[in-house]
Amino acid sequence: MRFETLAAHAGHHTDPATGAVVSPIHLSTTFERTPAGALVGGHLYSRMGNPNRNALEEALTALEGGAAAMAFSSGQAATMAVLHSLGPGDHAILPVEMYYNTRGLLDAHYARWNLQASYVDMTNVEAVRDALRPNTRLVWVETPSNPRLQVTDIARMAELAHSVKAWCVVDNTWATPVFQRPLDLGADAVTHSTTKYIGGHSDVVGGAVIVRSAESELGQRLRAYQAQGGAVPSPFDCWLLLRSLPSLPCRVRTQCASAGKLAGLLASHPRVSAVHYPGLPSHPQHALAARQMTGFGGMLSFEVAGGAMAAIQVAAKVKLFLRATSLGGYESLIEHRASVEGPKSPTPPGLLRCSIGLEHVDDLWEDLSQALGE
Ligand SMILES: *Cc1c(COP(=O)(O)O)cnc(C)c1O
Repeated sequence: MRFETLAAHAGHHTDPATGAVVSPIHLSTTFERTPAGALVGGHLYSRMGNPNRNALEEALTALEGGAAAMAFSSGQAATMAVLHSLGPGDHAILPVEMYYNTRGLLDAHYARWNLQASYVDMTNVEAVRDALRPNTRLVWVETPSNPRLQVTDIARMAELAHSVKAWCVVDNTWATPVFQRPLDLGADAVTHSTTKYIGGHSDVVGGAVIVRSAESELGQRLRAYQAQGGAVPSPFDCWLLLRSLPSLPCRVRTQCASAGKLAGLLASHPRVSAVHYPGLPSHPQHALAARQMTGFGGMLSFEVAGGAMAAIQVAAKVKLFLRATSLGGYESLIEHRASVEGPKSPTPPGLLRCSIGLEHVDDLWEDLSQALGE
């Protein structure tokens, strides 16, 4: 089946008890056994598994081309599940530029457990090779990266990771499986903040990890961590996320087309000193992005000439874009990223990050150009 068909049908089952086409939300925390002690639908207790969660996991597995998925209560919980698969003394390689709270988790929690971490420029394959150690167990990739949309070669990273028997895990939140399928490129697992494009409506916080092999050490550790650690999403959250999947391809393709158009317009605006969008031929990894992705996504960032104050003033003037963090919803968002990331942020001070929504692209451009003050 083709991707759109999978998105429309995977995980969606007619309810056998009522014929309802949309599945009910199963709030029950426990499931009765038959007199012989058998479990009726394979369900025992909702921390371990629940019909709504299983349906979501089935769909995410299909969309990423994996063997199994584990849904979590947030993207951060999904990242923690991967980090918990490592042990004290293990070494992880991560990109310098990535979602700032991923590094926050390592600094605040895993450093105390003696998990070693190296942060490298992952657009430089040699730098990653040089950072490999005999105890490297994880190469964490985020591509395109937050917030400058740097693009990392997933196949090369997987090769390097496997050369020292490490796992290659890709945070695929920004690209979505519509545009990028890391497991096909050799990665061992994919993570998502399902809060973003998978949810798509800014009304649910969630996360997921999808693995290439359920029986592998990584697959088994993640499943045990989910069932025992218990950072699981509610049945309603799973239901909302599954509800959002049929529209995922349409949503992100529209968002991608608009982001591409806006990136081009911004690039020729006199007040804009840089535009970060992998679809622009001027992007340093444009050729790699064109090879590795089937679309460049709905996120872009740009730098306003004049630095932080100039950028904050532009953000203050938008009327249609909402000044808010997060991304991937139907509504366009803009934010001054360095302010969100705090004083240690490596993000350029004049950078504004945009999540392009589903509004008409001409209305979005009218808003940005009036805010930039032509
Ligand atoms: C938002 C985000 C996360 C964290 O997800 P939460 O759902 O907020 O916990 C991780 N990675 C990326 C790339 C994100 O954009």
